[in-house]
Amino acid sequence: MNASFPPVLPTYNRTPLRFAHGQGSWLIAEDGTRYLDFTSGIAVNALGHAHPALVAALTEQAQALWHVSNLYEIPVQEKLAEALVAHTFADTVFFTNSGTEAAELAIKMVRKYWHDQGTPRDTILTFEGAFHGRSTGAIAAAGAEKMTKGFGPLMPGFKTLPWGDLDALRAALDDTVAAVMIEPIQGEGGIRPLPDADLKALRALCDQTGALLVLDEVQCGMGRTGRLFAHEWAGITPDIMMVAKGIGGGFPLGAVLATARAASGMGVGTHGSTYGGNPLACAVGLKLVEIITSDGFLDTVRRKGALLRQKLEGLVASHPDIFEEVRGTGLMLGLKCTCPNTDLVRAAQDAHLLTVPAADNVIRLLPPLTISEDEITEALRRLDQAASTLS
Ligand SMILES: *Cc1c(COP(=O)(O)O)cnc(C)c1O
Repeated sequence: MNASFPPVLPTYNRTPLRFAHGQGSWLIAEDGTRYLDFTSGIAVNALGHAHPALVAALTEQAQALWHVSNLYEIPVQEKLAEALVAHTFADTVFFTNSGTEAAELAIKMVRKYWHDQGTPRDTILTFEGAFHGRSTGAIAAAGAEKMTKGFGPLMPGFKTLPWGDLDALRAALDDTVAAVMIEPIQGEGGIRPLPDADLKALRALCDQTGALLVLDEVQCGMGRTGRLFAHEWAGITPDIMMVAKGIGGGFPLGAVLATARAASGMGVGTHGSTYGGNPLACAVGLKLVEIITSDGFLDTVRRKGALLRQKLEGLVASHPDIFEEVRGTGLMLGLKCTCPNTDLVRAAQDAHLLTVPAADNVIRLLPPLTISEDEITEALRRLDQAASTLS
């Protein structure tokens, strides 16, 4: 032990708050203070805290079987894969424990696909402001200096383009490009949506050149935007998609979904994971997928998203000195601030409302998809209070 170095590696600048338990949209601190949670563990607790059906699914699985390894067939993993295939473009799924691992497999899948075509293509196009995780591959993909500095040499094979510049994309996307990897709505980048028309144009360009379209829906997927996956709003489908965060509702789980064509190179021995797709994670994921694909669930998310947005527009109008605009879709919303965003996050926290800062001076509002209309009203009251203290 070294008295000057903390036992927890100090890579986070943590807020000094300690929560003892959670219930629905609320987090209860050790001192009993109740916080309205518009963070959801960064878009993870899709059904809020301690959702009874998820607790039951996890408990039941915990009493039966925790882990067996992918050496064996895992029925609940197969069921979850079948459910995801039934509800999406995908023909096949590989389960991971996180979004970063999903990004790693997506990159490997792209490379193997082109290797097997006999006409290798090396370059994956990515975008400024992107976030795909913190592995050596994922930081190379995003390319931002704040993540890559000091960690070179970076993995080659990525070219980062400006965000939202369709002409730059057109110029770069020729038939030497292996794939384009993009978040339909940048999360860490500041709730920056790619317009539906641009996503359609991107799909068409990929079809023309043969490049694979890889969507990172780790943050915007799993019902967050009011559709099961954000790309559905544009009426297109990807070749490969990364999923994580919301899919486990708080239990570590991620996935790569792919078409049979894109996945064609990934035979026996090409990839693996000790924990990926273990029974505990898949039991929770399966229950969660059942709930968010059940009749009317996503309609409710869209309705609540519209209500939240409308109220946020009102907030922006009444505090033009604090806010610039509302961005995002469904319950993945952001407020672009004119004051420093971290001041607002702190003021909201003082009003017992938890929000998440993002790049581009934005605060993210990522409530559980199960948030009630009364809780939305309460959150707005607290945001208004927070903004008033900064005016
Ligand atoms: C969070 C996130 C990741 C990384 O997921 P981890 O589970 O933290 O590894 C990748 N892509 C996007 C868009 C994310 O928001």
